[in-house]
Amino acid sequence: VIDHGQPEHSVLTTCAYCGVGCSFKAEMQGETVVRMVPWKDGGANEGHSCVKGRFAWGYATHSDRVTSPMIRDTIHEPWRKVSWEEAIGFAATRLKAIQARYGKNAIGGITSSRCTNEEVFVVQKMIRAAFGNNNVDTCARVCHSPTGYGLKQTFGTSAGTQDFRSVDQSDVLLVIGANPTDAHPVFGSRMKKRIRAGAKVIVVDPRRTDLVESPHIRAEHHLQLRPGTNVAIVNALAHVIVTEGLVNRAFVEERCDLTEFARWEAFISDPRHSPEAVEAITGVPAAEVRGAARLYATGGNAAIYYGLGVTEHSQGSTMVMGMANLAMVTGNIGRDGVGVNPLRGQNNVQGSCDMGSFPHEFSGYRHVSDDTVRALFEVVWGTALDPEPGLRIPNMFDASIGGSFRGLYVHGEDIAQSDPNTNHVAAALEAMECVIVQDLFLNETANYAHVFLPGTSFLEKDGTFTNAERRINRVRPAMRSQTGKHEWEVTCDLAAAMGYPMRYDSAAEIMDEIARLTPTFKGVSFDRLDREGSLQWPVNDAAPNGTPLMHVDGFVRGKGRFMLTDYVATEERASRFFPLLLTTGRILSQYNVGTQTRRTGNVAWHPEDILEIHPHDAEERGIRDGDLVSLASRKGATGLRAMISDRMPQGVVYTTFHHPVTGANVVTTENSDWATNCPEYKVTAVQVTLSNQT
Ligand code: SF4
Repeated sequence: VIDHGQPEHSVLTTCAYCGVGCSFKAEMQGETVVRMVPWKDGGANEGHSCVKGRFAWGYATHSDRVTSPMIRDTIHEPWRKVSWEEAIGFAATRLKAIQARYGKNAIGGITSSRCTNEEVFVVQKMIRAAFGNNNVDTCARVCHSPTGYGLKQTFGTSAGTQDFRSVDQSDVLLVIGANPTDAHPVFGSRMKKRIRAGAKVIVVDPRRTDLVESPHIRAEHHLQLRPGTNVAIVNALAHVIVTEGLVNRAFVEERCDLTEFARWEAFISDPRHSPEAVEAITGVPAAEVRGAARLYATGGNAAIYYGLGVTEHSQGSTMVMGMANLAMVTGNIGRDGVGVNPLRGQNNVQGSCDMGSFPHEFSGYRHVSDDTVRALFEVVWGTALDPEPGLRIPNMFDASIGGSFRGLYVHGEDIAQSDPNTNHVAAALEAMECVIVQDLFLNETANYAHVFLPGTSFLEKDGTFTNAERRINRVRPAMRSQTGKHEWEVTCDLAAAMGYPMRYDSAAEIMDEIARLTPTFKGVSFDRLDREGSLQWPVNDAAPNGTPLMHVDGFVRGKGRFMLTDYVATEERASRFFPLLLTTGRILSQYNVGTQTRRTGNVAWHPEDILEIHPHDAEERGIRDGDLVSLASRKGATGLRAMISDRMPQGVVYTTFHHPVTGANVVTTENSDWATNCPEYKVTAVQVTLSNQT
């Protein structure tokens, strides 16, 4: 912790780590941060914070920061520092040469959930308008893309239903595949407070998290399922509700599509979905499932909160729809204390999705093939746009290996470390003729880059982030850009060099364009945000003051839609050679692949990734606490230290993914969600052996 003494002034801004979106006052001495103080009037945090937001900001001025543009002809040569003009010209020349040789669809880009809405908006605009295709995807592809799909299918919009305050009205919390006390600490504390005040909690997770058991907390039910069997559990919960007469008929009849409901009711009533029938699949005693279903259906206001333990599966989208079915069949949607709520991992996952980062959707989740919507963008942007959806991130990698995709702009994401099956990603990047990385540091992906464009930290940014409760918060610059440019300016320069001039005088002007083109943002402007603090979308004529709770009088799609959610086992199976299942998660002090937190004092709290292994599995392998072990899958191998722990059931091991030296994604597979290609990070068959035996 660095304390530079007394501040001279302060700047109100937003934490750039998780999707809680805490507001902070950056107390400054000139351009030096003295300390970060959680803001008491912050809509998301009300004066609270965690060790990341409070202490882990030093990366912004770390000596590893690269602040000059750099280029090189091949990835085997050293970098050359050049001017912005030369770097942009070099990048544009290469991208145009690729398009001349391989066609306009041979290039694309990836937007970042770490960047502001305004930065994301101009990147996707550049790709659609200057690159001339829809090959734009977001790093949310690898985390919450199933949320987007599943909630849109059932409710009609791709976002969580509640504001954070709503949890104070909950009587039952159903927490699925999420560990909020580590990954969303400020909201996790709010949940714990509510539980201590009497709310009951049901946890669906292979791991015994703090919400299962910690001081003053004991879950009513812990459904400790085998990784990969979420859908079997959610169906079993729904089966109990339907077959035991716990359906909220009045809600269903008033608010839901009755034809779809009848179809679903017949489907879910089938005995194959009963807790007894799936017990052997999930490993969860049927009586626990029955008890949990009764509590969720009859315990008062029941709210679902979920995380990547839901989405990062081959049935991630199915599971999201299964949870929406549960909420609708019990009438737990559309008022305080209930709902279906994704806990977003990154600060601006919600925003990067809202801003049109998907290859098939413009901002506001409108399909690129919709002639009316496309015409609106064509008029404002002054160019014809492609009606064909573009490539998703994994499709870009496959197309690169196949020879038809040759140029990639990677904005603020370390895909070589964070995407699954690292060896496949590396081969795809190596095959490209132009990789442009825009980031704070020379990350792992930069090893494959030809152009490095330095990015700005949140302390230099001017713009907005949108948190997990759809709250649009201002991010204000506490110091000048260390690179001499705003990131959106760099994007505009590249677009212009590609032949499509894009010009804005400020981030506020970009937000004005977002508001003009995006119905859910119609009433948003920097002036309003500066006056009112924050706004929760939709903000428009129907909801001029924003929307804390969604689907109050009706679903966005009209009638709520029950979806059939058949359980299909993942292809990833344990075997004689790979007898254990690996699943992954986060720890409080660290963040994602650690690019930022490892460059702060927080690293002292978690200097390496650890493999948690059940005592029985450890004993069978002669592993003791602290031993170095090899972790191998069908895809790759890595080494790390073991910790004997009964938080995991026998047959399941667990690790974090914060340190590149471990590189947990070396072992993860290419399996992905059937609807969105979100990778199945949470189920990998592995073998674990003492290092000196391999
Ligand atoms: Fe930042 Fe999330 Fe911690 Fe809040 S809870 S301070 S947003 S990391």
